[in-house]
Amino acid sequence: TYTLGPKITNWDQQRATWLTQNPNFPSSLAGKPRVLLLTGSPPKPCDNPIGDHYLLKSVKNKIDYCRIHGIEIVYNMAHLDKELAGYWAKLPMLRRLMLSHPEIEWIWWMDSDALFTDMVFEVPLSKYENHNLVIHGYPDLLYDQKSWIALNTGSFLFRNCQWSLDLLDAWAPMGPKGPIREEAGKVLTAYLKGRPAFEADDQSALIYLLLSEKYRWMGKVFVENQYYLHGFWEGLVDRYEEMMDKYHPGLGDERWPFVTHFVGCKPCGSYADYAVERCLKSMERAYNFADNQVLKLYGFGHRGLLSPKIKRIRNETISPLKFVNRFDIRRAAPLKI
Ligand code: UDP
Ligand code: MN
Repeated sequence: TYTLGPKITNWDQQRATWLTQNPNFPSSLAGKPRVLLLTGSPPKPCDNPIGDHYLLKSVKNKIDYCRIHGIEIVYNMAHLDKELAGYWAKLPMLRRLMLSHPEIEWIWWMDSDALFTDMVFEVPLSKYENHNLVIHGYPDLLYDQKSWIALNTGSFLFRNCQWSLDLLDAWAPMGPKGPIREEAGKVLTAYLKGRPAFEADDQSALIYLLLSEKYRWMGKVFVENQYYLHGFWEGLVDRYEEMMDKYHPGLGDERWPFVTHFVGCKPCGSYADYAVERCLKSMERAYNFADNQVLKLYGFGHRGLLSPKIKRIRNETISPLKFVNRFDIRRAAPLKI
């Protein structure tokens, strides 16, 4: 069967040795495990040119979040393995980054159609000390319903360790483009509740794997739903004004969603499940909702959630540092470890 590369069996030892030999590349900084965010988009321009503009906004949003929180970022546009083109492209890239950045403790995959909408919230990494995969989902949908949306692969974290390499190896075989992916799609549709008939996708394949080999994997998988590591956009984007009235960034849950993910919108592709106009408008709102949190430090805000235009939100001053102390998110959100 298909493999992602030569079978590595002792990555934990190899990595531990490397870390002791390279003290200038520690796997944690100031007590915080090092995190690298990986995102990307197809090698070619979008079918719809406006899609490229939203890809730019989406990466700007991620750069902002990562800069504020001391997270490194990698943007990939290459298909490292031509068999695993499309949504499967994240698998070979995740493996590659683990092996090429032994100093990184957690690799965080985030889809291009997912935006950070809480610029203050931080993933509570200390909660995951005994886990290797952190993914948004609901145990009842997973175990009782075998639902194809029980977990979402638009935003998840993998620990850099042997277990993760093993999981990637077990996950990849349904991915190769063509007959394998087509046939696997039939298996997934028959097995998972609510899944339409289409070729195997990475999300369904992961759910299928975790259910069919529950005891092998689930001990190290943290199914998170205390906050929106992934938040489905439909129920969120129309409530941003209400959130701004009632709440504040830093909560990460339905009061102020950490991530808003435009599942089914496909701004860069051709066939979407939702009307293009509604998707673009909603993405614009999410982007500006987030950007307001970034612009606040500089004394600006968007005129409205649909407007690229900005306005001053406070006067210039001859003692700017008092605003730094008040509005720099890094001060408002002390590192939680
Ligand atoms: N992706 C990529 N290269 C590709 C196709 C997709 O890096 O050639 C990434 C991109 O970040 C996208 C994610 O994989 O958001 C999931 O792919 P999918 O086709 O499901 O797109 P989505 O539904 O997220 O728009
Ligand atoms: Mn997506």
